[in-house]
Amino acid sequence: MYRTHNCGELNMKNVGEEVMLSGWVQKSRDLGGMTFVDLRDRYGITQLVFNMETNPALCQEARKLGREFVVKASGKVAERSNKNPQIPTGEIEILVGKLEVLNSSETPPFTIEENTDGGDDIRMKYRYLDLRRKAVRENLQLRHRTAIEITKYMSEEGFLEVETPVLIKSTPEGARDFVVPSRMNPGEFYALPQSPQTFKQLLMVAGFDKYFQIVKCFRDEDLRADRQPEFTQIDCEMSFVERDDVLAAFEGLAKHLFRSIKGVEIQEEFPKMDYSEAMSNYGNDKPDIRFDMKISEMSELVKGLGFQVFDSVEYIGGICAEGCAGYSRKQLDALTDFVKRPQIGMKGMVYVKYNEDGSLKSSVDKFYDEAALKEWAALFGAKPGDLILVLAGDLELTLKALSELRLEMGGRLGLRDPNVFKPLWVVDFPLLEWDEDTKRFHAMHHPFTSPYEEDMELFRTDPGKVRARAYDLVINGVEIGGGSIRIHDEGLQKQMFDNLGFTEEEARKQFGFLMSAFRYGAPPHGGIAFGFDRWVALFAGIESIRDVIAFPKNNSGRDMMIDTPSTISEEQLKELSLKLNLKH
Ligand code: ASP
Repeated sequence: MYRTHNCGELNMKNVGEEVMLSGWVQKSRDLGGMTFVDLRDRYGITQLVFNMETNPALCQEARKLGREFVVKASGKVAERSNKNPQIPTGEIEILVGKLEVLNSSETPPFTIEENTDGGDDIRMKYRYLDLRRKAVRENLQLRHRTAIEITKYMSEEGFLEVETPVLIKSTPEGARDFVVPSRMNPGEFYALPQSPQTFKQLLMVAGFDKYFQIVKCFRDEDLRADRQPEFTQIDCEMSFVERDDVLAAFEGLAKHLFRSIKGVEIQEEFPKMDYSEAMSNYGNDKPDIRFDMKISEMSELVKGLGFQVFDSVEYIGGICAEGCAGYSRKQLDALTDFVKRPQIGMKGMVYVKYNEDGSLKSSVDKFYDEAALKEWAALFGAKPGDLILVLAGDLELTLKALSELRLEMGGRLGLRDPNVFKPLWVVDFPLLEWDEDTKRFHAMHHPFTSPYEEDMELFRTDPGKVRARAYDLVINGVEIGGGSIRIHDEGLQKQMFDNLGFTEEEARKQFGFLMSAFRYGAPPHGGIAFGFDRWVALFAGIESIRDVIAFPKNNSGRDMMIDTPSTISEEQLKELSLKLNLKH
């Protein structure tokens, strides 16, 4: 027998009981004639006490315990004189009568405490030790609870969870596929799914009506920012639905999760915002609407007045930061440096201070007099005390920079409270996106997304303007999910492939199975997929999805613990009929 209780459950009610606990030594300290050991397991920490006077031999033994030793201790629960109100077991301790070392431990490479001294790489390498830390463990517990609530809600709403294969055929969803060579079919490859997109559509053709799956997806992308080569989606599809049916169904899921996981009741309907409005007002397609501070275009107002910088660019726009007119030279310089960082790429920043006394002062006073600056202020609805920040340049780059600057100012002004949640649907994305490298259009979402019928004419005249029946769920500036109403007609699907530059032959080879399914009574259908990791990270109030994944990969796509990707033997290569052609 190893234990009568776990390390998180004993309290004043148990005083006087004989108990047995097993766990890891978090830390041990000697104070006078006593040795105190914090014993940890998944459930908590309990203090063990060893008394030099009453049991010197045992106390000597306890003094030899190192960090992370695994021990079994028996003794009596007693009230503590020095209570710790921070933890549930903080009012009691165990007066140990018997101690058994179940296993010793080398000194761990970093401290296994709330705040560790270990850097990212070392923690990843010894992830099993990192996972002993409460903060990391709690994230995984949250993940578990979220998955349960998703399954519960979806099942109650009539969705069936259906597993789809992991060894599939390459389907283009924007990223590169991971491929798996087939030993039994030399020269042929499977691909790992970027998502189960075509399978869930086939399940609709099969009449399953409502499908969901919490599923691993794989994308061989450059791992910029917060991406993982394998991640988890909540993948969903429904038949006989229009856009708003899908949005209503998943708004229900979102509200259920907020209620059950965060205790947050969201009454109001999630607002819907057009992609074009999101871009012009917020500079990106995932606006953080916890705060206003919209972007305003200023080109008309400021061009042609002799300021060469403004006259020579495509776009000029700004934001108004309330109450920031008192910003010092140093603070303004810091903001200028912020927009000049290579990731943002602006050449400079213009500011206007609307002083409390009503006067206006700008960094371009030479070109714009007070009357002109008053007009700027009016455009933003600025009041005395506000600060206007202006950027100029290429349209796309400048909007993106303004978006970053807006988020930065929102953060500085404390307007991005992690305990406030503001979801919205961004709708009507462009169907196609121009790719400069390949000089052709790509599907912005994926090639199965339905265009608006009334935009079909634009295919011939201005393909970039065709709107898709696509939508994203955005919460606090984070894209949590996205989906679309699908094409369910073979002819239209063919036309779409054609527009994307697939030859008929290529389309047949890659998607013949889907198009032939469309010939057997495909219902109108649509769906969505949510980034499960991202959702859990949002609920945990953390930025990185890595912290909600038990065994994540690093930025080079490497698992530091099992040390992979790794080479395979000559033998294996031969079996797979593969020859390496490395250029180094
Ligand atoms: N398969 C899409 C994705 O993974 C989501 C969808 O359209 O349902 O982004």
